[in-house]
Amino acid sequence: MRNMKRYLSSILGLILILSLSGCSSISGNTTTTVLSSQIESKGSITKDALQPNKNTTSVDNDKKDAYGNLKIHYIDVGQADSILIEQGSSSMLIDAGNNEDSNTVKNYISKQGIAKLDYIVGTHPHEDHIGGLDYVINSFQVGKIYMPKATSNTKTFQNVVSAIKAKGMKATLPKVLETFKVGKATATILAPNSSGYEDLNNNSIVIRLTFGNNSFMFDGDAEDISENEMLSKGLDVSADVLKVGHHGSNSSTTEAFLDKVNPKYAVISVGMDNSYGHPHKSTMERLQAKGIKVYRTDESGTIVATSNGNDITFNVKPGSYSYNGTGAITSKSNILSKNVVNKQTTKTKISSNVNNKTVYFTPNGKSYHYDKNCSTLKRSKTILEGSKQEAIRLGHADPCNICAGGN
Ligand SMILES: [Zn+2]
Ligand SMILES: [Zn+2]
Repeated sequence: MRNMKRYLSSILGLILILSLSGCSSISGNTTTTVLSSQIESKGSITKDALQPNKNTTSVDNDKKDAYGNLKIHYIDVGQADSILIEQGSSSMLIDAGNNEDSNTVKNYISKQGIAKLDYIVGTHPHEDHIGGLDYVINSFQVGKIYMPKATSNTKTFQNVVSAIKAKGMKATLPKVLETFKVGKATATILAPNSSGYEDLNNNSIVIRLTFGNNSFMFDGDAEDISENEMLSKGLDVSADVLKVGHHGSNSSTTEAFLDKVNPKYAVISVGMDNSYGHPHKSTMERLQAKGIKVYRTDESGTIVATSNGNDITFNVKPGSYSYNGTGAITSKSNILSKNVVNKQTTKTKISSNVNNKTVYFTPNGKSYHYDKNCSTLKRSKTILEGSKQEAIRLGHADPCNICAGGN
């Protein structure tokens, strides 16, 4: 046993040296062996061996969590995504909220005593996912950055690209079935399986994370097209916890996909009273029908899931199955909620899913277009794309009379 211990610590030391020197290509086999032995020995590995990356002076929470457990923080960034994953002294950030969430995300990470993010994943170039990424990249040491092969001509995207360059780094393109370690947890990239999608959402990097017997799916804004590709490739998407794709939109979380993931828990990152009508009725009905417990940031704020390799616990109670952005209201009173849901349904008939629709515009044009091939865009060399919300914010606020029907 003593020999075994020594063997394990020296392997661990080696891993540490490798990861500190920026080499992340640790052989999957070696680390997998270490992982399973460590989980069996439940923290008998010396804590010192795992410590150097952590800024111990400001680590608040209980050490057992920090060294033995996997912690997943679904940070409340309103109608956006930002997920911090910690295992041992390693960490990964998936998305960083909207531009306005920069400080929230940065402060949240700092508060956990993290000085270096080993991995950053910008799932896809929409503002509600990469908005705060430039600020995060500027604020922390960064190991590796994954971004999909998809670009956007938005200022937000350009800012992220500049921040990566300024750090002398390059974004890594995701390869399906590529794996890497976050401490003792193993991350596997499952999507995108193709490129050139009409909707940027399907470019989302999808990651499955396993830790002991527990598994987690992080779907970004992947929609039905991407979900179907994962299924038709026969990829293992099974998970205890599903971060529901695209904020609970009905374009994601198909019945077939949900059957394969077969989660016990679902987490929805969604803003209170959002104008998209997220999460959608049909998505919530699918989750409810399968008895999947739902946790949602609009009702609970930041959600923290902790896994010891066998069991998963949450820092908050499960939320409601209400939909159309009325979650926070309905959770207070079920009787009240029925009326509110009905009212909201009419309202969202008009507004749902319209604001996050991908639109097209020119650098100096005042209009946005639904059709990339709209006749009024024919003369423009540069056609930019982004969400309708972002287009409006950038001053391309008039709907094209030809392709956007004036609304
Ligand atoms: Zn999104
Ligand atoms: Zn998106």
